[in-house]
Amino acid sequence: MQTWDVIIVGGGIVGLSLSIALHKRGAKILLVERGEPGREASHAAAGMLADCTLETPSTLQPLATASARMYPEFVHELQDESGLDVDLRSQGTIVFPPGEHIHERPGFALNSLLPTPLAELEPGLADPTRPAIYLKERSVDPRALVAAALKAAKHREVDISSGTTVTEILQADGRVTGVRTDKTAYNAPVVVNCAGAWAGSLPPHSFPTRPVKGQMLSVVGAPHDVLRHVIRSPEVYLVPRSDGRIVIGATVEEAGYDKRTDADTIQRMHQAALRMIPALRQARLLEAWAGLRPGTPDDLPILGPTSAPGYFVATGHFRDGILLAPITAHVMAQLVTGLKPEYDISAFSPARFVK
Ligand SMILES: Cc1cc2nc3c(=O)[nH]c(=O)nc-3n(C[C@H](O)[C@H](O)[C@H](O)COP(=O)(O)OP(=O)(O)OC[C@H]3O[C@@H](n4cnc5c(N)ncnc54)[C@H](O)[C@@H]3O)c2cc1C
Repeated sequence: MQTWDVIIVGGGIVGLSLSIALHKRGAKILLVERGEPGREASHAAAGMLADCTLETPSTLQPLATASARMYPEFVHELQDESGLDVDLRSQGTIVFPPGEHIHERPGFALNSLLPTPLAELEPGLADPTRPAIYLKERSVDPRALVAAALKAAKHREVDISSGTTVTEILQADGRVTGVRTDKTAYNAPVVVNCAGAWAGSLPPHSFPTRPVKGQMLSVVGAPHDVLRHVIRSPEVYLVPRSDGRIVIGATVEEAGYDKRTDADTIQRMHQAALRMIPALRQARLLEAWAGLRPGTPDDLPILGPTSAPGYFVATGHFRDGILLAPITAHVMAQLVTGLKPEYDISAFSPARFVK
């Protein structure tokens, strides 16, 4: 019977990145994906690599910073191996914070001085006098990123079983032996659960992950150069793509596994974007969609070994899974291959939820 060194459950950006990182370390990998790889949260994301936000929990900051630093090399490799462009943009981010937060975090003002007046940075803004912070953050097109990661994984001969749902993690004598699926069973001494918002419900172990819905829209056909930077405001955020699309988002909703969009909600975000950049009136609505972020009770990812030898979890990346994919792949590949992870991930251990 065929066996693998590692089975990865879930072909989002986390599972795909980990499959490549483990393959580089010589492991034979099978990735099992319920639908098509990269069509869930990783397809829905805006693609901000937001490592400097006030919302980032301080425990997560070292991983966020490290991952943002890894991005150029991560993207370079994926582009090289796939031949696809993932639209990594380095123009930076303009943040309109709620007034009282501007100097909230010590040192935050360091890279917050605007390099040039707001009206020059972003001439399309309706109000160029609004207090703003400039951050040297990048963005990426997550759909292009997952397409490149999938192609790179295939190029490396990672085995991929699409349209296959893992129904159970198999164990014998307390150790992991593989996975049962809706069609068959696969064998491996190591299994990594990267099933995103669904990761918590794979028997026999459970984790408190939950879906956190995000609705978004995109527009196309705005005047050239109408938006150069990512813009984040309390009302809405805008993320430009190099092909002229502008992504506008996003809601944060507790709505179970419901991925329907609501016309009024989409309209409200669209109007907020038009108030900020009036020239977007010339653009047309291209698409509206919703995705399910993998949330956890403490808003921190779940990374590490479980109580069952051979069974690991890498999920719960909530609003930052695109940003955190390179560092997650890096530390999880170290852990799974028996090395001490380069970063302390003990705060993200699945054990914190075991009473
Ligand atoms: C609207 C929105 C905007 C976002 N914006 C950003 C952003 O700007 N920047 C950022 O960093 N992050 C952002 N995120 C968050 C980011 O998208 C997620 O954190 C990230 O995509 C999680 O990746 P993942 O691989 O864990 O999950 P997913 O991409 O959801 O992948 C999990 C995969 O597991 C598969 N699966 C589930 N159960 C099973 C099973 N039993 N058997 C086999 N396969 C299974 C699913 O089909 C899915 O393909 C956003 C998310 C949303 C929804």
